[in-house]
Amino acid sequence: MKIATCTTILCVALLLDALVIFDGSLFIHMAQAGVENFSLLDVELIQVVKDAKLLITDKPTAFRIHVYSTFYYSYFDVNVTYDFGSRWLLSRNIPIKSGNNWIYIPGGPVIYDSGQSRVWGSTTCVNWTRAGFDDKIEVVIDPFNEVDEFDETDNRKTISARFVDTKWLRILVAPLGCDPADWYSDLWDNMQFLVDTYPVAPKFNRFSWSMLSPISYNRDIPLDEYARYLSTQARILHYDRVVIVRAWGRWSLGGKAIGMLREPEDRVPVVVNCDLFRYDEALVAHEIGHTYYLWHPHDIGPPVYEATRYCVRTGEYEQTVDTFMSYNPGPWWIDKGRFDSDSRTWVDLRALGYDTEVEGTWQWNLLDQFVELEVPKPVSIIVMGGLIFSNRTIKLDHWYLIPEGTPDLLPQAVAPQKGDYGIFMLGKDRQVLSQLNFNASFTYLMDLNGTLTKAETDAVPFLFNVPYVNGTRYIQIRNAEGQVLQERAITANPPVVSVTFPKGGESLNIGENYTISWEAYDLDGDELSYLVSYSQDGGGTWIPLANNLKETSYVWNTTSLTAGDKYLIRVLATDGTNTGEDTSDGTFTTVDLTPPIISNVMQNPYADMVQPDQNVTVYADIFDLNSGVKNASLLYRYSQNNGLTWSPWTNTTMNPETRNTFKGFIPSFQYGTLVQYMILAEDNSNNIATNDNMRQYYIYTVMPENPSITTLTLLISLVTVATILTRRKIKRAPKSQTHFSASRFC
Ligand SMILES: [Zn+2]
Repeated sequence: MKIATCTTILCVALLLDALVIFDGSLFIHMAQAGVENFSLLDVELIQVVKDAKLLITDKPTAFRIHVYSTFYYSYFDVNVTYDFGSRWLLSRNIPIKSGNNWIYIPGGPVIYDSGQSRVWGSTTCVNWTRAGFDDKIEVVIDPFNEVDEFDETDNRKTISARFVDTKWLRILVAPLGCDPADWYSDLWDNMQFLVDTYPVAPKFNRFSWSMLSPISYNRDIPLDEYARYLSTQARILHYDRVVIVRAWGRWSLGGKAIGMLREPEDRVPVVVNCDLFRYDEALVAHEIGHTYYLWHPHDIGPPVYEATRYCVRTGEYEQTVDTFMSYNPGPWWIDKGRFDSDSRTWVDLRALGYDTEVEGTWQWNLLDQFVELEVPKPVSIIVMGGLIFSNRTIKLDHWYLIPEGTPDLLPQAVAPQKGDYGIFMLGKDRQVLSQLNFNASFTYLMDLNGTLTKAETDAVPFLFNVPYVNGTRYIQIRNAEGQVLQERAITANPPVVSVTFPKGGESLNIGENYTISWEAYDLDGDELSYLVSYSQDGGGTWIPLANNLKETSYVWNTTSLTAGDKYLIRVLATDGTNTGEDTSDGTFTTVDLTPPIISNVMQNPYADMVQPDQNVTVYADIFDLNSGVKNASLLYRYSQNNGLTWSPWTNTTMNPETRNTFKGFIPSFQYGTLVQYMILAEDNSNNIATNDNMRQYYIYTVMPENPSITTLTLLISLVTVATILTRRKIKRAPKSQTHFSASRFC
């Protein structure tokens, strides 16, 4: 029996001789008759929004437990059973108050009528590991019946919920003429926000992102061209979206869903401004939102500006914030309508008064688009792109026929896929095997300072994943009048490629340039074009290196690679449509020979402010580009005779405080003690770095205690360090590699 009643009157507790200290608070253990009660009124599961239509497997989930209590103040345990009865989590000593308590499990807080408790920082992740209808979800409060109540029967509740798998969201990040070192950490935050607010699970390969090495930017090439180039690579290598990162300056455009609100649309690429990342954790989620038919509340979207934030990862619940599709300044979340309830609606742009040839677009909630009600069969597709000019000429890209892909144009399409341009697949006698139509408009809508404005172009890009029909010998693009703008013949033989370096088994030193090479031929004598990519996970994910190559080699700058032994090279060759490919015969290894970088060593209190009985906290930024920091240590020694003799070095561990900042402690010493310290770090490839302040060590002397100013100086130094820590841009080293957000969750 445990009644924990908070008291500030210590003597009462001592008199009762039942004082217990728990979690740093004081409570009294005392027997009490069952005159008070708490009732478990309601249990809900929360992932992104309240009352979600469906829940998503492998996504962090919180229990929202409504308890009404008559106890003035009390603690109880809560046991939750989840994942089809297979797992449970016992949370102990949850502080509840009289009245309503909304308890969030795992980790809190508890929201009271009067405010809320602190988050208790549970690191446990509650999630469901498979899809299905779970009717064994149970919550029991006070499961061991440690609290006497007048009604013991209202402490248990069973609910049910349906869990579904969602489509994958694999993102390719392409820095275009800017340095990822300037914004990498902000991009991480953006990706984290996206996975928090989208109906995707932060699980290996369900949500992942990879980053290309920076591409140099040529002002003479329109952004549309870069977008189509990158969207093509992404489609071929099975990415769902491309985030092109440009530096446009802080006062410029935040981003652009470059292929939306125009015809034909391309839902794969978006452009974001890296100069705004750090002010806007929702930028990537916003732009990708447009590609899932989420629109601004101030123009064609539902006029909903507010959202209620339920962030399971951080334990922030029930805050009213701005929806990330609005232009409001944040903080942001996603509103419930856009998340799971706005039904699929056709937005007729011209009926809304917009001056555009584009008929309209969809408005649709995210969840419906991510839930795979039926698993689409992978089909052979041709990734087919080009440019249509207003003078009726057309330029075709190199197309790629790939065995598995998701089509984005369907034959016999109904509106809005009807259109005035046609893609015709013809057989050997030029009989029509399939026909797909699309609209191409030389005007489109662009968001200019929040207003959708008509823009004109004389070159319309198009890029489709078109289902391939067996027996196709010719592919034609025709205009509205039936005029053939271009025809491409499909020759009999696909190209044959063979990767000659690296073939497998090699060991490459990161930082050196290596020449990737291959041999290729085509029996029809067609001119070939190549797409080169690499994998660092044995073929799970491919990161493009270059496209449209005519040569049979490519010089690979390996500076930003991660050390690993599952590397492969893959070369796709196209003769215009037919595609052949080859991969390294076996995996090869990349070796990290560069030690970590240790910088920004700081201490708190400052060197001239350390007093007896004060621990010193030492901070350092440590990062390792190529294999990651394995461990960091703080070594110190001290002298009590002004440096005549020294203690041996003491080695203590430094622990990560943020992504790159590590923290260690030096214990307090008596007045006059001279202390020296240095920092050591080792990366995962066992390269060791030392920062000993250029062999001078970092030094401080313990000052005499001055009680009158102690508090003040401590305060000042704390404030200073805090300011420095927040002002300093903590950069994470950029890597061209794939990130699986799973590592950042649970
Ligand atoms: Zn927007």
